[in-house]
Amino acid sequence: MKIKQLPKMDDNNGWLNILPPLPPPASAQGEFQSDFAIVGAGYAGLAVARRLGELLPDCSIVLLDAGRVGNNAAGRSSGFAIDQAHNIRAKDFAGIIDAEREQLSLNRAGQDYLREAVRSHRILCDWDEAGKIHAAATERGASKLNAYAKALDLLGTEYDRLDAGQLKEITGSEFYISGLYTPGTILVQPAALVRGLAMTLPGNVTLFEDSPVTAMELGVPHRLILPEAAVSTRKLILANNGFAGQFGYYRKDLLPIATWGSLTRPLTDDEATHLGGRNSWGIVPADPSGTSVRRMIDGRILIRNIYSYNPGLNPVERDRTWARVRHETSLRNRFPMLPDLKFDYTWGGPLCFSRNGEPVFGELETDVFGAFCLNGVGIVRGTIYGKLLAELVAGVSTPLLDIMLKAGRPAGTPPQPFLGWGVRLNFAKRRHDAGLEM
Ligand SMILES: Cc1cc2nc3c(=O)[nH]c(=O)nc-3n(C[C@H](O)[C@H](O)[C@H](O)COP(=O)(O)OP(=O)(O)OC[C@H]3O[C@@H](n4cnc5c(N)ncnc54)[C@H](O)[C@@H]3O)c2cc1C
Repeated sequence: MKIKQLPKMDDNNGWLNILPPLPPPASAQGEFQSDFAIVGAGYAGLAVARRLGELLPDCSIVLLDAGRVGNNAAGRSSGFAIDQAHNIRAKDFAGIIDAEREQLSLNRAGQDYLREAVRSHRILCDWDEAGKIHAAATERGASKLNAYAKALDLLGTEYDRLDAGQLKEITGSEFYISGLYTPGTILVQPAALVRGLAMTLPGNVTLFEDSPVTAMELGVPHRLILPEAAVSTRKLILANNGFAGQFGYYRKDLLPIATWGSLTRPLTDDEATHLGGRNSWGIVPADPSGTSVRRMIDGRILIRNIYSYNPGLNPVERDRTWARVRHETSLRNRFPMLPDLKFDYTWGGPLCFSRNGEPVFGELETDVFGAFCLNGVGIVRGTIYGKLLAELVAGVSTPLLDIMLKAGRPAGTPPQPFLGWGVRLNFAKRRHDAGLEM
């Protein structure tokens, strides 16, 4: 099978650009034999590789990525490693409470696995257990916070209400009218985190970057073809986000979406004084179609909003230009006191959703496994799904793995062109309804 659509990420990712330059990549050249080959070195692939390496130190594990780790969706995210996310499909942001509780325990286990790696290898990634603030700028947004608070009450999860004055004290901005603080979220510099994870994999894992898999032949062993290499492997693991559809699995059920971020230059000392507020915080929108905002310890401000339909799987320049204009408006609305503050970077990255919010997890066919379709909350889900997939493959059973094994699979989507029309219309309506929350 030829893999038609390959990742081609531009070099606009602000998180990666503000890190020191990357060392040259080790790319795959020649013939390799491995016990396990993993396609994709985002959160899911890095966690599968780490956990397999820990559990099976005598096995050989090859981890292949088409690009550079840190320039993928993993390194382009907004860096919220979220324990309890809005369930955007449920009216009050929480669906069936038992399922929400299970998801919470999975997400927390994902955070634990990341924390353990960051601490034991001293990965420098601005790791900050700061929690997240759901903030509303409109009465409509505030009513969504009330619904979310009810869901948190049902879950028995801790939170604090914030008023406009407290939000100004934190952010320096008068834009928000109410907020809800939940303590469990961790803020990270995402590109630094995934680079750090990739550099500290167990010794029996070999990572090849700039090494796209361009064809796959299933058999005993399976064989992966790359531009300058071939890998024969006993077991194949797909951890490559929406690109997994290209390998013949769930292609028509995976919704290809992009979302967009922009990062400003650091605030000057005068600007920081003028703005006031704390020097690091993270806001997620009360309305899921609104804007995430972060202030980083180096004085930069991140704006993330806009979901765009992304059938080519790679973010496109036309959408990037459009997103930047929208980000300018979102920045000015929140920080009118900083008229000269400009963005240094604007970038997009691929997300993979399913219509029913279910992931792909487990054995897809004999000795082919997958962990993909993370439905937006990829940092912790990718990590825990990847870890648990490695445990499944290695024959380790745990209660969390049992939860994942009973997860559903992505539901079918309408045929084209109806799918494209439907998704675009849905996003346009959500943007319209979000109004000033954008
Ligand atoms: C702007 C933005 C903000 C976001 N903010 C957040 C956030 O704050 N919190 C959060 O939890 N999530 C966030 N996300 C979502 C999160 O980034 C993704 O859900 C997550 O990165 C998905 O992880 P993954 O491991 O499945 O895939 P990826 O990170 O995309 O990794 C998959 C890898 O597979 C590789 N690949 C694909 N095909 C091939 C092939 N043929 N050969 C070799 N390699 C291949 C790709 O190069 C890629 O590196 C955000 C995403 C974006 C774009």
